[in-house]
Amino acid sequence: MSFKSLNLIDPIVRAVTEAGYSKPTELQYMAVSPILAGRDIIGHAQTGTGKTAAFAMPILQLLKRNTSDHKEIRILILTPTRELVLQLEEHFKIYSKYLPLSQLSIFDGVLSGSQLAALGKRVDILIATPERLLDLLSQRHIDFSKIEILVLDEADRMLDMGFSDDVKKILKLISPKRQTLFFSATMPLNVRKFADTMLKNPIEII
Ligand code: AMP
Repeated sequence: MSFKSLNLIDPIVRAVTEAGYSKPTELQYMAVSPILAGRDIIGHAQTGTGKTAAFAMPILQLLKRNTSDHKEIRILILTPTRELVLQLEEHFKIYSKYLPLSQLSIFDGVLSGSQLAALGKRVDILIATPERLLDLLSQRHIDFSKIEILVLDEADRMLDMGFSDDVKKILKLISPKRQTLFFSATMPLNVRKFADTMLKNPIEII
């Protein structure tokens, strides 16, 4: 099984090949096609399984398919810690190397001048912790009405860290028509119930 046989486009295949990946991991093999088909996903995925590329590759491809002249954010990725925001940022940069997409990461309550300038331009992908994102939203309006895909990364840790209410507040700002991708290393009942509040007929990946 190759990246190309997952119907991934050349700019993405080239970027991951240059990153040294020779073939998809099992999780990538299972997740890419349903995400490309627009399905919601609930994935039991530990770090080290290639989880980030499993959702980043199809997300980038879906974004590329429809690049209109928009300014609004199209993808929101929520993750529990600053370190994870930075890791996601790094991975998305590698995978989108050959695509004309812009991304912004938020892990501090106050944005720097260059981050504010970026928000005034086009941001396709926003990566943030729930807490910092809400801080920012209290200072500044950001249009979430055009978000097409929401990703919850490390959802169990988000709940453990007490971000459940923050995530619920953010969910209220996003259209229910979105596609939602939910990843968690563990899936106890409280995490499963949390997933049920936001997923529509999801494909489960174990
Ligand atoms: P993750 O599970 O997203 O934290 O990824 C774990 C590590 O696997 C990261 O260092 C990735 O760069 C790497 N990785 C992701 N996909 C592949 C792949 N298909 N082949 C080899 N390494 C990969």
